[in-house]
Amino acid sequence: MTNAIEIKDLRKTYKATRRRPGTEALKGVSLDIARGSIFGLLGPNGAGKSTIINIMAGLVMKSSGSVRIWGFDIDVNERNAKASIGVVPQEINYDAFFTPLETLELQAGLYGVPSPKRRSMEILETVGLADKANAFVRSLSGGMKRRLLMAKAMVHSPPILVLDEPTAGVDIELRQQLWANVRTLNKQGVTILLTTHYLEEAQSLCDRIAIINHGQVVACEDTPKLLAHIDNKEIRFRLDRELNAVPEGFAAYSATVEGRRVLSVRYRPGDQTVGDMIGLIGSAGYRIEDISTEESDLEDVFLQLTSSK
Ligand code: ADP
Ligand code: MG
Repeated sequence: MTNAIEIKDLRKTYKATRRRPGTEALKGVSLDIARGSIFGLLGPNGAGKSTIINIMAGLVMKSSGSVRIWGFDIDVNERNAKASIGVVPQEINYDAFFTPLETLELQAGLYGVPSPKRRSMEILETVGLADKANAFVRSLSGGMKRRLLMAKAMVHSPPILVLDEPTAGVDIELRQQLWANVRTLNKQGVTILLTTHYLEEAQSLCDRIAIINHGQVVACEDTPKLLAHIDNKEIRFRLDRELNAVPEGFAAYSATVEGRRVLSVRYRPGDQTVGDMIGLIGSAGYRIEDISTEESDLEDVFLQLTSSK
């Protein structure tokens, strides 16, 4: 087995209630998440990320499809599947009257971890809360509470840790700390699955990213490859006459002559504009007869992602 998680054709339709119309939240999601990886599920709000996580955690019933966690089918071997995963939910919920140490001991009890096998202090150290072991949870900052939730998800030493929007509402400094925690855990061998609607977060942490939108996976690639797609566009200009070479002024662009009258330019939409290119072509004495670009779903999704920030 090389996959930590295998999801096949997962579908979920939430039934209509008096308050809410029915929603087809997942429309056939398939994903393989390799053991040992940090995998990012990236998508705008409402994409279906939490639904996937909650199905894995046994909190939401799927409509159809299959999910295997560490080789265990959640329908066939629910107990082992659950024992293999620790889930940090999107919403912060905590026990205000217990200390972090007590919280972890209680959770370990719930999971049936016998006392000699518990490692509450060690886990608190991993998430940087050892010095708060005996403080009241309600006195902890928001970031510390999140880290405590992470610790809580780890009491039964699952090989997979799932974090649903781990840094929502967490300030930049604490975000860096959380990311460092995630990397440390991953180095210790834990497979990490995290959801986020920040591309920046996914790109700095994850080995591989799936983009999900409207309940469907629209892209799933190793991070460098995915990034190359979304910040790299191609545009073609067909000119009124033959080109012998790339016109002067295109030095800063990655431009090639394609066919006799076609200039093809790869550029980064973030810092280069089509207007500038048109200007350069004009000043080289050419007229443009036609322009074509390559559009992909991914770009549309990416635009949505960046505009919803
Ligand atoms: P994300 O985590 O990516 O923001 P969710 O999985 O929370 O997305 O939601 C996906 C879709 O399912 C949304 O349209 C949301 O409104 C809907 N949804 C989520 N939870 C419920 C629920 N308990 N009942 C009805 N609809 C829901
Ligand atoms: Mg969510």
